[in-house]
Amino acid sequence: MLIDIKDVYKIYNEGEEREVRALNGVSLNIDRGEFVAVVGQSGSGKSTLMNILGCLDIPTYGDYHLDGQDVTDLTDKQLSHVRNKQIGFIFQGFNLIPALSAYENVELPLIYQGVKASIRRERVQDALERVSLWDRRVAIARAIATHPPIILADEPTGALDSKTGKHVLDILRRLYKEGTTVILITHDNSIAATAPRVIRISDGQIMADAPQEVDW
Ligand code: ADP
Ligand code: MG
Repeated sequence: MLIDIKDVYKIYNEGEEREVRALNGVSLNIDRGEFVAVVGQSGSGKSTLMNILGCLDIPTYGDYHLDGQDVTDLTDKQLSHVRNKQIGFIFQGFNLIPALSAYENVELPLIYQGVKASIRRERVQDALERVSLWDRRVAIARAIATHPPIILADEPTGALDSKTGKHVLDILRRLYKEGTTVILITHDNSIAATAPRVIRISDGQIMADAPQEVDW
């Protein structure tokens, strides 16, 4: 068992009126070489779970064994050693500008030049695609350069157009086929639907955890 999480809680501002149970009793096992999508709405606890899985944070309560090692009682230095050895991170919102304002920004000089609307659309999409593809590829290259056994990706296709998003998923699939354990965090059901195992999270709890057929 690569990842073994038992009854994990992450509670912010515990005991106060503004207490938030970002994770509210989560148990989860992931084997080496799995491809798992964790899906849930905004605020459901996905990033909190990713931070704990990735040893960026420790649970308030509960057990976490990573590759047989208890990681709930480690010092910051020990945690960073585990991270460096085990995990490649692809973070949410890496260098991204909200899609719409980016589109308008790129379109502006073309409007000034009097470029016709249909050609503008094509040029803007092409330019944005090149840039975000580049950003994402750099983020992914950074994550995989050390050959980590685990890739943790938080919304890696967020704010990307569908074609670029597919490229990113293809890269993750290729890593999986080469034996990397991939954990893909997303709010997007259509992306989760492409994974061989889907874990649904809501209000800090796992509501469903099921395998599904995939055609790859
Ligand atoms: P998601 O990634 O699914 O959008 P998060 O894990 O970021 O969800 O957040 C889960 C819940 O925990 C949310 O209600 C969020 O507001 C809360 N939360 C996250 N981080 C903190 C924090 N540092 N302090 C207080 N509340 C937090
Ligand atoms: Mg998040």
